Amino acid sequence: MSHRVVVLGSGPAGLTAALYLSRANLVPTVFEGIQPGGQLTITTDVDNFPGFPEGIMGPELMERMKAQCARFGTQYSYDEIVKADLSKRPFILTTSSEETVEADALVISTGATARWLGIESEKRLMGHGVSACATCDGFFFQNVPVAVIGGGDSAMEEATFLTKFASKVIIIVRRDVLRASKIMQDRARNNPKIEFMWDSEVSEVLGDTNVSGIRVKNRNDGTEQVVDVSALFLAIGHVPNTGPFKGQLDMDADGYLVTTPGSTVTNIPGVFASGDVQDTVYRQAVTAAGSGCMAALECERWLEAGE
Ligand code: NDP
Repeated sequence: MSHRVVVLGSGPAGLTAALYLSRANLVPTVFEGIQPGGQLTITTDVDNFPGFPEGIMGPELMERMKAQCARFGTQYSYDEIVKADLSKRPFILTTSSEETVEADALVISTGATARWLGIESEKRLMGHGVSACATCDGFFFQNVPVAVIGGGDSAMEEATFLTKFASKVIIIVRRDVLRASKIMQDRARNNPKIEFMWDSEVSEVLGDTNVSGIRVKNRNDGTEQVVDVSALFLAIGHVPNTGPFKGQLDMDADGYLVTTPGSTVTNIPGVFASGDVQDTVYRQAVTAAGSGCMAALECERWLEAGE
């Protein structure tokens, strides 16, 4: 199959890129990937996406974006791209079902996956008090205690942010030291609403339909205690979905794609990157959508120039 332009990923970045590309009559094909709709499909209410004064459920927002793109001719494939040869044009992509796809230009919006603990109760209560985005979900937990797991800058930042709403924020740290920068540590340590539990890990998230507490194990002596919280925020890092591009596209030390500042241009002409796969700072649906738009416009201009 030969395409003018292929979009990898179907979160806000990929679908916004597809919307603009299809309105430019480039008939993009979107490979939806392993999590169609991206990270928003595992949240509930989204109150910070402009244009929805009553809020909107994450999965519904993504369905609407998908329908909007389809209206202008975007094609969808449920497949995932597992291999990419970007050494010559057209680029050659291989799907998980071992089909080969050719593309003159590529928009990579494969996102980043939040790291989870991997326990059953965490999965069951995801979107019902278990979250990996305090900016998105913190507002729902007013005047109740909440917990954050992690010892890095994200955990400090999210915990500090959550003190605007929560009655108390408990940071659960698996070691007795923080990885976070000194300034972020100090901000959290000096906040009277923040408490730390050191050398600790969450062994179970408690609650039937919503989080009601967590079981915390001390890693030194193995003792366990139940801590009453109404939400658990994971801040233990993200993993960018860039496996197929290793050794071809420039990446930072953590594997995020590097783009020319202020653009979505990668080191390979004709390959553009948008959304969380190249964003370690903002990670919001609306910024992802914005960079998807940038990628589409840059891609369109590049194709027009016929370089
Ligand atoms: P980091 O990788 O820096 O930190 C992850 C933290 O989670 C570490 O404390 C780690 O513990 C802990 N952790 C990892 N896995 C587990 C697990 N299974 N159970 C419990 N704890 C676990 O990720 P961040 O998202 O915090 O930061 C990523 C990058 O983004 C960093 O470079 C950071 O500086 C940057 N950043 C900057 C911000 C700013 O400047 N405003 C804000 C947010 C992020 P351990 O230390 O034991 O490995």
